[in-house]
Amino acid sequence: MKFLDEIKRRRTFGIVSHPDAGKTTLTEKLLLFGGAIRVAGAVKSNKIKKGATSDFMEIERQRGISVATSVMGFEYDGYKVNILDTPGHQDFQEDTFRTLTAVDSVIIVIDAAKGVEPQTEKLMNVCRMRKTPVIVFVNKMDRPAGDSFTLMDEIEEQLKIQVRPLSWPINNGPDFKGVYNIFNRSLKLFNPNIQEIEERIKFEDISSPDLEDHIGDDAETLREELELVEGVYPEFNSEEYLAGDLAPVFFGSALYNFGVQELLDAFLQIAPSPKPSFAEEREVKPDESGFSGFVFKIHANIDPNHRSRIAFVKICSGKFERNKMYKHIRSGKTVRISSPTAFMASQKEIVEEAFPGDIIGVPDNGNFIIGDTITDNEEIHFKGLPSFSPELFRYIENADPMKSKQLAKGIDQLMDEGVAQLFTSQFNGRKIIGTVGQLQFEVIQYRLEHEYNAKCRFEPLSMYKACWIESDDPKILTEFKKRKHQKMAKDKLGRDVFMADSSFILQMAQDEFKGIKFHFTSEF
Ligand code: GDP
Repeated sequence: MKFLDEIKRRRTFGIVSHPDAGKTTLTEKLLLFGGAIRVAGAVKSNKIKKGATSDFMEIERQRGISVATSVMGFEYDGYKVNILDTPGHQDFQEDTFRTLTAVDSVIIVIDAAKGVEPQTEKLMNVCRMRKTPVIVFVNKMDRPAGDSFTLMDEIEEQLKIQVRPLSWPINNGPDFKGVYNIFNRSLKLFNPNIQEIEERIKFEDISSPDLEDHIGDDAETLREELELVEGVYPEFNSEEYLAGDLAPVFFGSALYNFGVQELLDAFLQIAPSPKPSFAEEREVKPDESGFSGFVFKIHANIDPNHRSRIAFVKICSGKFERNKMYKHIRSGKTVRISSPTAFMASQKEIVEEAFPGDIIGVPDNGNFIIGDTITDNEEIHFKGLPSFSPELFRYIENADPMKSKQLAKGIDQLMDEGVAQLFTSQFNGRKIIGTVGQLQFEVIQYRLEHEYNAKCRFEPLSMYKACWIESDDPKILTEFKKRKHQKMAKDKLGRDVFMADSSFILQMAQDEFKGIKFHFTSEF
């Protein structure tokens, strides 16, 4: 197959949701279609159950599973589909944000009864920032839910995106009869006892009395609602969808495998093939002949007996070939990747080649960090992997003086993996760990002990935000750092960070130093 065709047939996307909306169930059903798995139940939920926050076995279990399900590839109808999994637990949301930098589009799953939930909103904010096209799947229609028009309003308001239903439900809960697919004008009837055996019934003209034969009295309501849909929502426009301005909406029930194939078929037709990526130096198009890619995730120590890591590389341009010499831009070293892996049809395999849109797993013993660029020669640096200001901060102290080397190494590697962020106080030299959730501190402590044989202790630190600072005027910057020297720190890359105690103090500093820019993400 030609290089360009390989790119065009790729669909690399992420499925996101608030926990419990049905992300795992939908992922599994999609994999069933792709023949990637044969039986339901093969995909384990990668979420950490509520109340299990200190159950480290659970954390370990989840890490083991999440590597297997990090990227799932399969062939379907001539397309190469790559699904990127994201952790559901909000303490790992930074991991999710980074994964979203490697996808070309997103499917957002919403629980019909619960509507838009807090995590959904946050994830949508990330998609909006990056202008990622999103499709909404309204799930659990077999369960009682509210009015669908009200739900559409809620999605528009809370997710701040224009919606366009491409299918429409006939009732919900015990009265759920099925969906009318506006996209390809057909009716699909729901039968909870038979999964997906019902044929699609073509309905070019829904005014036909045949509709009554299938859904009885609900036919008239459906006609009225569809008329309203046509009247209220703009025509589906794929340009607007691709620009991230319009979200097509589908309804279904992932559990009953209902509406999933419709979603998949429409998705493959309208979703984007690999898009250009942005390096600091220039835009990189997927169809360029030179190979380039970046590391968006590192998964460490899958097997505790081997101190191994897997760096997940998203291919941005050109063709990747096994054993070819590539350049690791940050170190300037040459790398030869001899056993790149991909998860195809749930099997981990060595791949000989890979194309833009694909993700390969690269075995690594500490050379890669998140954000690294690899190319076949050109000096470019991909951007778009921001670090957000953490929300919780603790001093980290060595609890076993005999193991200080191990501790330093462990901290270093865990930070490379993106488990949390490290800052070093310029005032007292102490190390500060910043996270978005309490669970991360527990993971760090546990992993330092089990993987690096080091013990640590956390000490409380009341801190509001870490702000990366810069100024066009070096004098102002020096003045600021002098005045705030007790609160100045360096991040892992040596950049200046102001650690604000409270929003009040931050506000004061901002008012006083107009010449300083305060950033709440590290990429600017
Ligand atoms: P995740 O946290 O978003 O990955 O959610 P899961 O896929 O694990 O689903 C959470 C729960 O909702 C599980 O008990 C599923 O069986 C259930 N569930 C998922 N989809 C549906 C659906 O369409 N209908 C019903 N009734 N339950 C569903």
